[in-house]
Amino acid sequence: MSRSDDRNARITRLVRPAVQAVQAYHVPPAQGMVKLDAMENPYPWPGELRDAWLAALADVSANRYPDPTAAALKAQLRRDGGVPDAAGLLLGNGSDELIQLLALALGGEGRVVLAPGPGFAMYRLIAAFTGLEYQEVPLADEDFALDEGAMLAAIARHQPTVIYLAYPNNPTGNAFDAAAMEAVIEAAPGVVVIDEAYEPFCGRTWMSALERYDHLLVMRTVSKMGLAGLRLGYLAGHPDWLAQLEKCRLPYNINVLTQASATFALEHGDRLRAQTDSLRAERERLFEALQVRDGLQQVWPSEANFITFRTQPGRAGGVHASLRENGVLIKNLDGSHPLLSDCLRVTVGTADENARFLVALDAAIG
Ligand SMILES: *Cc1c(COP(=O)(O)O)cnc(C)c1O
Repeated sequence: MSRSDDRNARITRLVRPAVQAVQAYHVPPAQGMVKLDAMENPYPWPGELRDAWLAALADVSANRYPDPTAAALKAQLRRDGGVPDAAGLLLGNGSDELIQLLALALGGEGRVVLAPGPGFAMYRLIAAFTGLEYQEVPLADEDFALDEGAMLAAIARHQPTVIYLAYPNNPTGNAFDAAAMEAVIEAAPGVVVIDEAYEPFCGRTWMSALERYDHLLVMRTVSKMGLAGLRLGYLAGHPDWLAQLEKCRLPYNINVLTQASATFALEHGDRLRAQTDSLRAERERLFEALQVRDGLQQVWPSEANFITFRTQPGRAGGVHASLRENGVLIKNLDGSHPLLSDCLRVTVGTADENARFLVALDAAIG
């Protein structure tokens, strides 16, 4: 047997079939591009803040393991996030790691994860490679509303262990109706995770609902508010639930640089909030600009830092490629879900980036 045949035979025999079946998450190269594909905050820190941050990092001991409880950071996150006093906090290396942690703790043969779709890709991907069954309930097709009746029917039928509700939802940008969400929470036989990754751009939160529901967990991340590079997410919920999940967390998952940097950044949270406020204003300007473009079929209002829109039939791939050739990278959603045919998603950038995007878009759809 040749060396490569032997290698391939071993891989096929040993790697779990569920993992072999997964399509790897693809991050396209973006060097030198106007990068509007990943919901990053485009603003750098002002110089004096950068200097103070670097000074704070000088005190970090890279030779020591991080504080496994991340006590200082947790206290700061509680203040910043309005976490109820009675709730516990669990930290993840990005909220992606928290989704994986939930799968490790709650997974197993025949267990079901349920979420409305189109939704965040990681719920499905992590379910697939951890061996959980993923059930998706389609959103209403005209405005991506949560289909309460279909959700309740799916809950009765599949008895999901975990339900994910992203609020606002990615990639649709809307925040679901609160009464429909409440009905889902009431009906859930397992845990409900409300993913508030875009809370900084929406302003509404389910944090106070933790006082009413012990099977509710609220997930947040610092990524979309402007600290995507640090990789930090947190889960707030009843301490008894978090104590179980905590057992699956690797003890030093939040490294010393992230702990120090996030604590520092949140101490200056007013600076980040000024940036997210400015992005909200840019979002409204961009929405209005997209809405008047005849070359587009539909533009959906957004409570996040991105806008999803529909090109003319069959044009999404061409428009996406033309934008890329003109140095603007956005996300092509066409083909990722039946409800997203001809759809593209653009992250809200600086005023200058958004203007460059619109110029490139006009060239593409003109
Ligand atoms: C971006 C995003 C996340 C991922 O956050 P990280 O903390 O960067 O891992 C989680 N949920 C939703 C809905 C997102 O869009």
